[in-house]
Amino acid sequence: LATLARHCPEAAGAAGRALSAGRAALATRTIWNVNSTARGGGVAELLASLLPFARGADITVRWGVIGGDDRFFHVTKRLHNALHGATGDGSPLDEGARAHYERVLRDDFAGMRSLLRPGDVVILHDPQTAGLCGSVARLGCTVVWRCHIGIDAPNDESDRGWRFLAPYLADAHAFVFSRDAYIPSVVPRARCTVISPSIDPTTAKNQAMTPTTVRAIVGAAGLVANGLEGAGRETAFERADGSIGAVTRTVDLVHENGVPPADAPLVVQVSRWDRLKDPIGVIDGFAHMARAGRGGPAHLLLAGPQVDGVHDDPEGAETFAETRRHWRDLPAELRRRVHLACLPMADVEENAAMVNALQRHAAVVVQKSVREGFGLTVTEAMWKGRPMLASRVGGIQDQIEHGRSGLLLVDPKDPEEFAAHLADLLDDRALADRLGEAARQRVRERFLPDSHLGSYAALLQRCLAEADTRKRGASA
Ligand code: UDP
Repeated sequence: LATLARHCPEAAGAAGRALSAGRAALATRTIWNVNSTARGGGVAELLASLLPFARGADITVRWGVIGGDDRFFHVTKRLHNALHGATGDGSPLDEGARAHYERVLRDDFAGMRSLLRPGDVVILHDPQTAGLCGSVARLGCTVVWRCHIGIDAPNDESDRGWRFLAPYLADAHAFVFSRDAYIPSVVPRARCTVISPSIDPTTAKNQAMTPTTVRAIVGAAGLVANGLEGAGRETAFERADGSIGAVTRTVDLVHENGVPPADAPLVVQVSRWDRLKDPIGVIDGFAHMARAGRGGPAHLLLAGPQVDGVHDDPEGAETFAETRRHWRDLPAELRRRVHLACLPMADVEENAAMVNALQRHAAVVVQKSVREGFGLTVTEAMWKGRPMLASRVGGIQDQIEHGRSGLLLVDPKDPEEFAAHLADLLDDRALADRLGEAARQRVRERFLPDSHLGSYAALLQRCLAEADTRKRGASA
């Protein structure tokens, strides 16, 4: 909380109040979070950010990670894709898959049952853990199942995934989804709560940076020309362990005639190299705008993680190669204004500091995703007060209110609409500033840890009151 107070005093006040409410409700109970990975992925990042707040407030929280073999994770990946409405590898979610899924979770439960006490609250995350709901509930724990995945409109695949999970979910006492539209018909609405993912303003990705540091980092990393000379202290950022890091690595930049000039308004999209993020569509939309003679001397920079030699993400390398070919086919005068940057991943906090500086340097940040659960990059850029242009898909619709805290694209595939909105933001700086300011305020109000902890405190209070009622009913 003290760290949060340094980075965002208002959020720290509200987080403190939420934690006191939580502490009063929980008394001697332990809150467990159970997921399937300790590192990598949004859920692990979220838990790593939120649990220290609870610990600091003397709430007993523990984090358990289930194990499983390849076949188990194959089945759960298939389920993950299904809940996103996608076929994945098309493997069957049949009785054989179900029997294996249950067998692995039985072993996981055997490993954890001696640690759980009746009355504890167990928050199970995502499809990997859904099969634990029944056995954990029968121990006398309160079970919350939190699902971080979903789609706006159900389809056959998502129905298939939910049919697989439904028998396990019947035993959970409460459910958490990231947005209302993601609540499936197989769970009772009355037991559902919507909690949006939050970002942590204390991390290298989101901590405050002076304009001097921003210029120094984008310059030192080779993202923008004429950054301040000399790396060293000026490229400093604070690491999670409190030590000071510095940006010393440089990015791999695909460019025609040099890096973007420091004084050119820069349009930025930061994303994994993924077709669903539509990097080629961003280039086409930017080209459309430039051909119409709008947007002034702006440049475009698409940034993503380094893909060279990453064997476990062949799709990322493929998408990057496609994007690069598309860039190569642009007319020379446009190619000069479009840049592709691969950011080094060797030190994730240094990578995060580069993303932070780049988002802050941007004149406009775009997120032209075709599909998005909840776009963290959107919240990150909004927190930095940047004017955002993003697709009206998935969670982005909850993040941005069109015309107030950013602009939304009705049809993410329409380059004309993208070009028109982008030009508006580049040409009308008063509009851009107004949207950027409202964006920061919206994140402050809804998407920081204090809101997240407040939602959890309210949910847990409700669950525990219901648990008391159940207990009284059982003993009457
Ligand atoms: N990201 C990053 N470095 C990169 C590209 C992306 O740290 O080179 C981060 C980005 O800042 C965000 C996350 O990866 O925190 C992506 O989350 P998002 O919800 O936007 O999309 P996802 O990748 O989960 O589909």
